[in-house]
Amino acid sequence: MTVRPYILAETTWKTVREMAYDVAVLPWGATEAHNYHLPCGTDNVECDYIAAEAAGLAWDAGARVAVLPIVPSGVQTGQLDIPFCLNLNPSTQAAVLGDLARSLEGQGVRKLVILNGHGGNDFRAMIRELQPRLKLFLCVANWYQVVPPKDYFEDLGDHAGEMETSIMLHIAPALVRPLSEAGEGKARRFSIPALREGWAWAPRRWTQVSTDTGVGNPAAGTPEKGERYAAVVIERLSRFLIDLAAADPDHLYGEDNTRTIRP
Ligand SMILES: [Zn+2]
Repeated sequence: MTVRPYILAETTWKTVREMAYDVAVLPWGATEAHNYHLPCGTDNVECDYIAAEAAGLAWDAGARVAVLPIVPSGVQTGQLDIPFCLNLNPSTQAAVLGDLARSLEGQGVRKLVILNGHGGNDFRAMIRELQPRLKLFLCVANWYQVVPPKDYFEDLGDHAGEMETSIMLHIAPALVRPLSEAGEGKARRFSIPALREGWAWAPRRWTQVSTDTGVGNPAAGTPEKGERYAAVVIERLSRFLIDLAAADPDHLYGEDNTRTIRP
């Protein structure tokens, strides 16, 4: 095994001490049921992989990026009645994020990217509250939104469907059960139009939404689709890490283009 200097868990104190890291990446996943064919650690496997690969590309381009160990539990308040969906409340996540960010602050790293891998996690409000109290620059990206999946997959269900199945078949095929064992990922939608249309929002009660815990049909998932999609996500994310590593967090804005310039 080759030690990857951009993966903190594989790196010694001697390397850390001598390296001036510009960006830390904190993958944040979840432990939850993923239909009958994907493991409960799916979000963590995916998020860890995407973070490591993107950081590797950025590293090769000269950006000094360190991927921190993943936080493996997320918000599961809509799945508490499903065994081994392990919930961290948003307020707990805010406390964990605050402690980790305050640790990094003053240690030389000036920027932290949370790479989120679970739809129930929402770090934006936490960042809004935490940022004014920290010198460390905070931002978040959901890896599954880095590149819109609509050009790569037919079924756009958002949980254990074609996209996640394809990604897992590509990066961890040994953990994927035969697709013949998977449920169809049929999801019931809200009966009230405003909630169904999405402009009014409430968290989904999972056991009322889906019988097999999936949302989206995994049947058309293939490792080739997963490989294609992962590659574009990793490439685009690595570009962001390179840009952020080179940026001064106190000067992140370009020219004012809000006014129309008339001849
Ligand atoms: Zn997932």
